[in-house]
Amino acid sequence: MMFSYTQISNYLRCPRSYRHRYLDGWREKETRATMIFGRCFEKALEAYFRGEDCSVVLYREWGAFRETPFDFKKGETWDRMLHQGVLLLERFAQDNRIQIPRPNESLQIKLVRELPNANQFIAYIDAFGKLDASPYLIDWKTTTSRYADAPDGLLSLDPQLICYSWVTGVSEVALVVFVRKHQPEIQYLKTSITEEQRQEFGRLLGVTIDQIEAAHFPSHSGIRFPQNGCVSCPHLGLCLGDQKLIDSNLIRTAGANDLAWLDELVD
Ligand code: SF4
Repeated sequence: MMFSYTQISNYLRCPRSYRHRYLDGWREKETRATMIFGRCFEKALEAYFRGEDCSVVLYREWGAFRETPFDFKKGETWDRMLHQGVLLLERFAQDNRIQIPRPNESLQIKLVRELPNANQFIAYIDAFGKLDASPYLIDWKTTTSRYADAPDGLLSLDPQLICYSWVTGVSEVALVVFVRKHQPEIQYLKTSITEEQRQEFGRLLGVTIDQIEAAHFPSHSGIRFPQNGCVSCPHLGLCLGDQKLIDSNLIRTAGANDLAWLDELVD
């Protein structure tokens, strides 16, 4: 089987949700504008590093979804998101803090690590490059609110960065967060992941895969803050037996697990 960070974090959040998604093939309909916009924005970033006109690429990529009936968040529109994206790309170019010397080899890199029992782990690393002239593994994020950056060292607890550090063996990792708000902002967040953290992730991965292979899929339900995962869970309709919710949020795909790793490209 092929595993990815998205799959493992889904299992850890709620094993029942994992079963719905990866074994039974129930996946969320792509109706969230923010998710699609994030993908378009990353294509524009790649174009920037290849020396192309990134605003034109953003317009072209996002333009393909102009008539799509998305669920926009309150106050958001297709035009407003485009405008914010262009401002962020301009700010990014002005900051000039990231260099990707070989863009054809250093962006969206697919890595596969062999696991016991003929399993594999797949990851797509957004970029290997330089931040403030030092080498980093870089992950891009687009969001509407700032990431927490205090107290010092908080980012070193980010499980996705720990996972990517485990896959690559690279200690120095960074998040570049494009914040779409009234005054667009870019956060350049850096941290170091230790060897001990990488080993701990490897053990967590092993235990999680054992649970999956043993078909343990108990529900980790929760509706009260902060353990309120059911409230935003795409599989809520399945757990409640609510056909209307199922029809509005989910589509079912056959042979789900074969292509599950594609989720990794979304995040
Ligand atoms: S609705 Fe709750 S219990 Fe059901 S899959 Fe989602 S998180 Fe798990």
